Order: sequence, then structure tokens, then C-alpha cells
Amino acid sequence: MPSYAYFQKQFIPLSEAKIGIMTHALHYGTAIFEGIRGNWNSDQKQMYIFRLKEHYQRLHQGCRVFKIDLPYTVDELCRITVELAEKCGFEEDIYIRPLAYKSSEALGVRLHNLEDDFLALVIPWGRYLDVDTAKCKVSTWRRPDDNTIPPQVKITGIYANNALAKTEAMELGYDEAIMLAPDGHVSEGSGENIFLIINDKLVTPPTASNILNGITRDTVIQVASQELGIETIERLIDRSELYTADEAFFTGTAAHLTPIGEIDQRKVGDGCVGAITAKLKELYFEVIKGGNPKYMDWCTAVYKK
Ligand code: PMP
Repeated sequence: MPSYAYFQKQFIPLSEAKIGIMTHALHYGTAIFEGIRGNWNSDQKQMYIFRLKEHYQRLHQGCRVFKIDLPYTVDELCRITVELAEKCGFEEDIYIRPLAYKSSEALGVRLHNLEDDFLALVIPWGRYLDVDTAKCKVSTWRRPDDNTIPPQVKITGIYANNALAKTEAMELGYDEAIMLAPDGHVSEGSGENIFLIINDKLVTPPTASNILNGITRDTVIQVASQELGIETIERLIDRSELYTADEAFFTGTAAHLTPIGEIDQRKVGDGCVGAITAKLKELYFEVIKGGNPKYMDWCTAVYKK
């Protein structure tokens, strides 16, 4: 089934949306992106876009940091995205990729004196980490510091770091990398935040450990607290705690909630999905598919009934 893109202020077939080879963002990583999921609910025959507004708030923040003049408000971006997803008409899980980018066809390293544009595209996308429990490796690549490239906003160029870590891990036979911050504390996966379960509490690195402040991370913190009465402690995590935690999992829009089974040839717990992780995963999927009435404010229905 063909897909569509929102490109240069129009909805056009994805296959026709092309940029010139001199586009600034292609050469210097000068763009801010988002990854948003539309989750297909087959019982309701409805597509729910998850936490759409929060994704565009983060895109706006990124554009401020990166001097991109985004000519749409958060509400306008939400409307464009729903219209785009509706036009695509998929009846399976989708991934939406918005991009605010330096669109001038001009060379020269800078952020100023360049034109900006916004595009969005939709693709059908199932599982990102296609495993029930991920086998992980602590990466030899470290997360950049906020004064190197700000990791709290999704600058495309920073993902060179994530790509180095991901490919290193996969070529060595692992599913995902766990990156450390420059100070040696645990930071995050190449496209996911990380949680450990220690003594029945959730423990996750703070933003000071150079993480992306994930929307799925926030979702899990809220759902764990409200549904299970489990609090989350945000604190510096030592590498060795990865090896001694009772349970561990990743969170991310693409990866959803993926349990971690092994880190650096050491089983996490007994290597299977832990009890708290399993419960949280079940709750999470119910919430993102529009199956829990308490959390419907987070779900934007795409198809009109
Ligand atoms: N960290 C990184 C580096 C990511 O790319 C992502 C995916 N956006 C995440 C964490 C998870 O963030 P979110 O839950 O908002 O998708």
C-alpha cells in the first residue's frame, strides 16, 4: 500500500518526496527529528497516535536549541500529522517521522543564514528490537556531553554516535548497546532509555547522565506509579549495577518496552522476563493501543467513525 508524506506544505505520495543533493541537513546533520507511533487497535478498527502533543513539544524545544525556525505551532503539527496518517489509511502499526531541517541547498558549517523546512512521513513498522529479551553489550562508545552535542534534543547529527554503538553491538552478536555517559555512569541504549529493577523499585538514569528524556520513559514512570504503586528513583547508575539488577528493560517509541535478558555475558535475574517487567509491559501495551480509559488523553484517534 503506498504511503504519503507532508512535504513543502503539501500531502504527496512518499515516493515523490525528494530533496536536492546539496541540502544542508544531509551534509551536516542539521535537523531535529521525532519518532511517533500510531498503534493499530484491531478490535476497535482504530489507529491511536501515542502522546502526539508531547512529541511535537520536544520537536519545538529541539528547534529552539538548534536555531530552526519551525513555522507551525504544536497544534498545527498535530493536525497535519493526523491528516497525514488518515490519508495513508494503514491498518497496522505505523511509525511517523517528522523532521525539521536546514533545507537550504548551501554548503558551509553553520546554523545561521539558512532556510528551514518541515516534513513528515509515515511507514508501517512492527517490532524494532525483534526479540523477546534483548542481549546487550556495554558500548565502547560514550554518550556525548550536553556541551558537546545536546543529547536531550533529537539532533539528527548526534545519531552518528548511536549508530556507532548499535552497529558495534550487532556485529558482535548482540541486539542492542548500552552506552555510558562521559563520567562512566550508565546512560541509555542506542535508541531507548533504560530501567533497572532493584529491590522492587524502578531505577533509571537522570538527564544529567546525558539521556534523551524519553516520552515512553515518562509513560512507564507514570503507569508504574499509578497502576502498581511502584516509584521510580532517578539516580546515577554504576556499570556494575547492570550486572546485579533483578530485572532490566528498555523503553522507547520504536522499541516499546523491551525486556533485557543479558548484559555483557551476564544474565539479568534468571535471564527471563521478570515479574514486574512483564506486568508493566502488559499495562503499557494496553495504554498505547487505546485500551485503558484512564489514559485516553494520550491517544489520538486517526480514523473518523
Ligand atoms: N534515547 C534515544 C537516544 C532515542 O533515540 C529514543 C527514541 N526517541 C529514546 C531514548 C526514547 O525516547 P522516546 O520514548 O521519547 O521515544
